[in-house]
Amino acid sequence: MNTKIYKNAKLRHKQELYDIWVEGEKIKDIVPAGFRGFPAEEAKDLGGKLVCEPYVESHIHLDYVYTADIPAEETGTGTLFEAIEKWSDSKSVLTIQDIKDRAYKGIKAEMRNGVQYIRTHVDVTDPNLTALKAMLEVKEEVKDYLYLQLIAFPQEGYYAYKGGAQLVEEALKMGADVVGGIPHYEFTRQLGEQSVKKAFELAVKYDRLLDIHCDETDDPESRFVENIAAEAYDTGLGSRATASHTCAMSSYNNAYAFKMMNKFKRAGINFVSCPTENCYLQGRYDGYPRRRGITRIDQLVENGLNVSFAQDSISDPWYPLGNGNLIHQVDFGLHLGHMMSLEQIRNGLDFITINGAKTLSVTEGYELKKGNNASFIVLDAPDELTAIRERAHVLLSVRNGKNIVEKKPEQILKEPF
Ligand SMILES: [Zn+2]
Repeated sequence: MNTKIYKNAKLRHKQELYDIWVEGEKIKDIVPAGFRGFPAEEAKDLGGKLVCEPYVESHIHLDYVYTADIPAEETGTGTLFEAIEKWSDSKSVLTIQDIKDRAYKGIKAEMRNGVQYIRTHVDVTDPNLTALKAMLEVKEEVKDYLYLQLIAFPQEGYYAYKGGAQLVEEALKMGADVVGGIPHYEFTRQLGEQSVKKAFELAVKYDRLLDIHCDETDDPESRFVENIAAEAYDTGLGSRATASHTCAMSSYNNAYAFKMMNKFKRAGINFVSCPTENCYLQGRYDGYPRRRGITRIDQLVENGLNVSFAQDSISDPWYPLGNGNLIHQVDFGLHLGHMMSLEQIRNGLDFITINGAKTLSVTEGYELKKGNNASFIVLDAPDELTAIRERAHVLLSVRNGKNIVEKKPEQILKEPF
């Protein structure tokens, strides 16, 4: 079996350099640099660069990417609910090939930046399920390079869109991995609650994961996160369930928020925050002072809950920017979450690595250690603090022992002194 050595790697939370020995698709050993225990057919010197687990994109919409300019004219003021309406008009013109072409462009942007795992929401409020058909094809085509997890996501609701609940179920039968939802978009509180209950029923019935767009609003009365916690606890789905966004949590009163922290712990659910997109979309109806619409990242982390950061959009009707480089989300998330102690910064990469892996339930073999998958990335930085401060580029992405993306470090050709 082919044996390779990646020499002089700086590992997270370690001072010394290490050599990573790879045999076939697995890590044979990780030993202090200079140890020459095995014959190697290939050697690569990483020169003290930081090595960590591959990035995990825990929340994106690959069927929407690069659609910000459809239709070409600018309409509305760019709020979340306007974007849903705009998308509703646009999506019917997209073909399977259009969606695949855009999704590939998005996947390549993410992979260039060190991502090897993506959870993508796929809009199933379409009687033809065009996006799902496209993404099922993509999932199969990219599987040697990227783990792609598909969510049956009813963008226009289980009940606010006629037949939405049936389309979610149909999507699960076709092979979607995760049940989605959007309770704050249903007509009433009661229908929102019903949609959460239905989502859990489907997750249990089809033995799937669950990830719901939850309380993506500044309305402090939007409290579907409590329904998710209660259902995760009751059904035993626990850490297989995720609440995405939970923006309204930043507008809840403290007594309620603190009560819920304990419930979240008992339920064991995951949280996903999309720092750049949520701070743009939320607070839009405020004057000043203006809320930032970011969930209580610091308090969730302090309570031992699993939180990951995600891109959400790359140039779609919700958010015209975005580039698939998750280290930007760490930078923003640490700012917006008021998490700037050196320890918090050093742990920052957890939000887009190990925490994301937990959300996707892909932890088996994921961590960078002996016997696990030989999948890791190399950043153009000597340590975590520098990596986040400079939003370090990913120089190399290794998946199951193969170098799948390689880039040159940034070169300065001229400077005055
Ligand atoms: Zn989303």
